[in-house]
Amino acid sequence: MKLNIDSTKLWSDLNVLCSLGGRFAGSESEARARDFLKQRLSAITPGAIGIHQVPYSGWSREAWDLKLLTPNSLALHAHPLVRSPSTPANGIEAEVVDLSRGTLADFEAHKKEIPDRFVLVRHEYMFSTTHIHRRVKYGWALERGAAGFLIACHLPGELVVTGSSGGEEIPALGITREGAEGLARTTTGYPKIHVTIQSRTQPRIAQNIIAEIPGQTDEWVVICAHYDGHDLAQSAIDNATGIAAALAIAQAVAAIAKPLRRGVRIIFFTIEEWGLLGSRAYVDELSEAERRKIVLVINLDSLVGGSRLTALTSGFAELNGFVASTGLPIDTHLPMMANSDHYNFARHGIPSLRLVSGFDEPRSRMGYLLTPGDSIEQVDADDLQAATAIAAALVYVTCSTLDPIAACRVAAV
Ligand SMILES: [Zn+2]
Repeated sequence: MKLNIDSTKLWSDLNVLCSLGGRFAGSESEARARDFLKQRLSAITPGAIGIHQVPYSGWSREAWDLKLLTPNSLALHAHPLVRSPSTPANGIEAEVVDLSRGTLADFEAHKKEIPDRFVLVRHEYMFSTTHIHRRVKYGWALERGAAGFLIACHLPGELVVTGSSGGEEIPALGITREGAEGLARTTTGYPKIHVTIQSRTQPRIAQNIIAEIPGQTDEWVVICAHYDGHDLAQSAIDNATGIAAALAIAQAVAAIAKPLRRGVRIIFFTIEEWGLLGSRAYVDELSEAERRKIVLVINLDSLVGGSRLTALTSGFAELNGFVASTGLPIDTHLPMMANSDHYNFARHGIPSLRLVSGFDEPRSRMGYLLTPGDSIEQVDADDLQAATAIAAALVYVTCSTLDPIAACRVAAV
């Protein structure tokens, strides 16, 4: 017995999602994707589609501009990071101090140069054990009195990088690797830039989308994936791949004649890219009794792009053993990684894992995440089919095995 994946539908769902744009939270693109997902889930699952509303502080880019003033006059390609504050209408002028990668040692070595200047650091490959997150670097810049924050893409090809800064205190922009090369200190001093950002903050309501395929018991296996993304890309790998796979798995589970032992709850979260806000509200609002009915959370986020899948098992040691016992080609990585929606379940003690491609493969296509390069050209149809089939097999085992992971449940972390 196994779940049969409709590869044609899988690929067409991925294409539709990418054609709708990057699904930036609060945008028309995100709203169109939401309507599409509701319609697809309605066609697949038997019951009504649930909508979980999450009030949040919305933010949008209105206009922005970054110019190098000295040593040369040059317009630089840039993209304000999510939640960057506006500058005064006529912009600000400041010098730039280049901190190279932007490790803590780099910040300490240059701490006297940082006050009232923009710091420049580098974006890094996100799926590795040595990665230093941009929000950490932003925090270090803030603590040392920086006037602003620039982060350069690590890949060549005139690609700007985006993401959230994690704060709203100082202007923050992603720039290209090539643009950063012109911002080194010269014999004539620090380079000087002019920055203008107009952004808008307003109250908004996000919508998580929920559908259920009941099982024989009142236990649930949650399959979740975030449908929001970034406006500079199609957000194809991250996370149209996870969404399309979740739809295909839901369709395959719904097609089984006899219900599985455990039901499947599909949740499409949004505002994941804004600090996991959608899933945080969802799990926090569940009663403890409802939380305890969730046997395992399988978060599908960025399933294609590397050579293999890894389950990030959120500190649940027994989950590593469970994944290994399935015999599926899935590596495991035990430390808690708060890099997607599984984290909000795990911090309530619910066994949770994220399936991700390209872990510790810095040369993989996963490097295009958060850049305009995260487009459908990076997604290989056979890879998507293979990853979806592996995820489906994991779902099937979890739904059918008598008591696969009861030992995993621990006190909230
Ligand atoms: Zn993601």
